[in-house]
Amino acid sequence: MLYANSEIIQMRKIYMRTIIIVVMTIFLACVVSAKEKATTKADKETDYLVLVNKQNKLPDEWEETIKLETVFDIDDDECIVEKEALLKYYELRDDLEKHDGVHIELDSCYRSVARQQELWDSWIIEYGEDYVKKYVAVPGFSEHHTGLAIDICIVKDGVVINDNDDMIAEKEIFSKIHEKLADYGFILRYLEGKEDITGYSYEPWHLRYVGSPDIAKEITEKGLTFEEYLESKEDSN
Ligand SMILES: [Zn+2]
Repeated sequence: MLYANSEIIQMRKIYMRTIIIVVMTIFLACVVSAKEKATTKADKETDYLVLVNKQNKLPDEWEETIKLETVFDIDDDECIVEKEALLKYYELRDDLEKHDGVHIELDSCYRSVARQQELWDSWIIEYGEDYVKKYVAVPGFSEHHTGLAIDICIVKDGVVINDNDDMIAEKEIFSKIHEKLADYGFILRYLEGKEDITGYSYEPWHLRYVGSPDIAKEITEKGLTFEEYLESKEDSN
């Protein structure tokens, strides 16, 4: 079979184009998969079950394992939260607003060890040592260093309620909030009557993201503290 010169040129062009398309497709597929792998790897490194309390210090180089996002709190101050925890917090907030008429806002989020030291020093002057030791963590031993802990406040009839005692008095509103926490992967960290285990007084405002609704539900339904949950998992291993 004989082809005219122009036909051969045309066929060559089509052939070359096909090769270019195939090569480009393979290249793009490789780039996308490398990117996906990179994201998955970073996500895996975040230990959403990290335990930080009065006996357990924040792991070294913790900051390298988390992705932090900066937003604004109720006072329009910067509020830094771990990316996934923040996303889930917004879902929780929207759900409460839409279905329960409850309005929550961010009050305190991630704190570096240095910032905790500053707060510790200033609060001792303001509130005295006994009060601070009861409510505030020693720098390096605060769950707020993880980026996974959020202190919320409530807005009731347009008024911000963020004083500790005033919030504890708002039992009805907080019970509505607490009921929904696990659906979004959060637990109430400092339970009433478990002060001897957590080392902290009851704090209805302090939420902790644990990375999965299933784990949060297990902890909540069994009425466990985070310490008790982790211990039970260790025992069963
Ligand atoms: Zn807190």
